[in-house]
Amino acid sequence: MSRKNDKTNRYDRQTLFRDFGTGGQTKLAEGRVLLVGVGGLGSWISEILARAGVGYIRICDNDRVDLTNIHRQAHYTEADAAAGILKTEAAAKRIAEINDGCIVDVFAERITRETIHRAAKGCDLIVDAVDNFETRYLINDFSVKYNIPWVSGGVLEAEGQVMVLIPGKTPCLQCILPPDAEPGAGHVLTLPDSGILGPTVAAIASLQAFEAVKYLSGHPDEVSPYLTKINFWENTVQRMQLANLRQTDRCPCCDQRRFVYL
Ligand SMILES: [Zn+2]
Repeated sequence: MSRKNDKTNRYDRQTLFRDFGTGGQTKLAEGRVLLVGVGGLGSWISEILARAGVGYIRICDNDRVDLTNIHRQAHYTEADAAAGILKTEAAAKRIAEINDGCIVDVFAERITRETIHRAAKGCDLIVDAVDNFETRYLINDFSVKYNIPWVSGGVLEAEGQVMVLIPGKTPCLQCILPPDAEPGAGHVLTLPDSGILGPTVAAIASLQAFEAVKYLSGHPDEVSPYLTKINFWENTVQRMQLANLRQTDRCPCCDQRRFVYL
């Protein structure tokens, strides 16, 4: 094998981090991620996870590339926008160029109660990169019912938030933000029609990818126990202990196990 084709050292700089090591890298290669959405957050997350060495990513999206996406989304080019190709198609091509050791499985459909079982089959972590709460509540029901952790992220204007929800360990989304809560009740809502500064997306996506890497590499105890909100314009960071947000005895989802969105 020529030196050029020898890829055995590609993760050397990563495995040198002693808390991660070759053991973490091996586990990462065994990780199977369901990434819901390859728009703003999802495009960056898929790029970071593929570069880091996650072995399998199923990318779900049915949108096409548009010129208005490009200021904040990885992978996509002006040519992709002109051709109006599916984001999953462009993302899969790009990820294959980045790391041929990462299997990319394309699921070019919306995630709904009809499709989520097929979309999530065989995956051991869900990463939410969607722009609406209807899908997040659906993911939440699925996560709790089938005991699959998920990394949630949201962005709006110059602000974003990240949290990792682990069934049985943390609250669920309905504990933190009941569906009947007032819009904007202290949480970042991703709204397709509102503005967003490009770097906000890459920053929040990096935080989500970091938590995914910790979990998948066999370091669940290092996963952040906080709901973290950052406003990059105002330079403020807020952290709330997820454990304090649990609605024991009252949550219809994780306590009463009623999965109305599923
Ligand atoms: Zn709950």
